[in-house]
Amino acid sequence: MIETEKLYKTYQLGEVAVEVLKDINLTIHQGEFVTIMGPSGSGKSTLLYLVGGLDQPTAGTIRLGGTLLSGLSDKEQSIMRRRQVGFVFQFYNLVPNLTVEDNILLPLLLDGKKVKPHRERLENIMETVELSDRKDHTPRELSGGQQQRVAIARALMNDPEVILADEPTGNLDSRTTEEVMLLLSKINREQGKTIVQVSHSVETAAYGNRIIQVKDGKVWDENEGND
Ligand code: ATP
Ligand code: MG
Repeated sequence: MIETEKLYKTYQLGEVAVEVLKDINLTIHQGEFVTIMGPSGSGKSTLLYLVGGLDQPTAGTIRLGGTLLSGLSDKEQSIMRRRQVGFVFQFYNLVPNLTVEDNILLPLLLDGKKVKPHRERLENIMETVELSDRKDHTPRELSGGQQQRVAIARALMNDPEVILADEPTGNLDSRTTEEVMLLLSKINREQGKTIVQVSHSVETAAYGNRIIQVKDGKVWDENEGND
C-alpha cells in the first residue's frame, strides 16, 4: 500500500519558489493498477519519484508498505527503493553495452546478491516478457517495445511489491503500446503487483482500474471525489 499525507513539493528556481505539489493525500491499495494523468508540468513525474523514494518531499509523509520513508536513513531508503520498488521509464534507461540478461540482473547485482540462486526466477521473468530468445542481445539490437519489456523485466527482478512507470508507452507506436500495456496488466493480475503509471492517454489508462488526475499541484481522484 502507498499512502501520502499532506504531501508538498516546492522547487527553488533561484529566487522563485515553484510549488509543484500541494497537500496531496492519496491511498493506493496493494494490487491496484492506477494511472496518474494531468497536463504537462503538473507534477506527475515528481509525484511518482517522491512515492518511489527517488526524491524528498518539502513537507508531508509517504508510507510505502507501511514504512514511513522520511523515517529512514539515506542508506535504508535506497535499500527500500531497490527491494520494494521497480521503476520503468519512457526511454527505457537500459545500459547500452550490457546484454538483455545482464540488464535484467542489474537490481540483483546492485543489491549484492548472487545470480545462481535466482537463475530460475530470471528465466521465469524472461518468459513472462517473452525475451528468452534475446537474452544475449544488446539493447540497440532490439525494437522499442522489446527494450521496454527488458526494462519491465528488470523492474521485476527484485520481486518488488510496487511497479512505478513514468509514461512507459510514451515512446511507442500504438501496436507496441498495446503489447506493453497487456504485459503490465498481466503482471498486475497474475502477480498482484501494485502498478502506478503516469500516462497522457486515456487508452492506456483503460488498462488500469483507477485514474488520479493531477492539476495545479492538487489531486483529483475519480473514485473519491476532489480532496
Ligand atoms: P510531463 O507530462 O511534461 O512529463 P510532469 O507532470 O511529469 O510533466 P514534472 O516533471 O513533475 O511534470 O514537473 C513539474 C514541475 O516541476 C515543472 O514545472 C518542472 O519544470 C518542475 N521541476 C521538475 N523537476 C525539477 C527540478 N529538479 N528542479 C526544478 N524544477 C523542477
Ligand atoms: Mg513527467
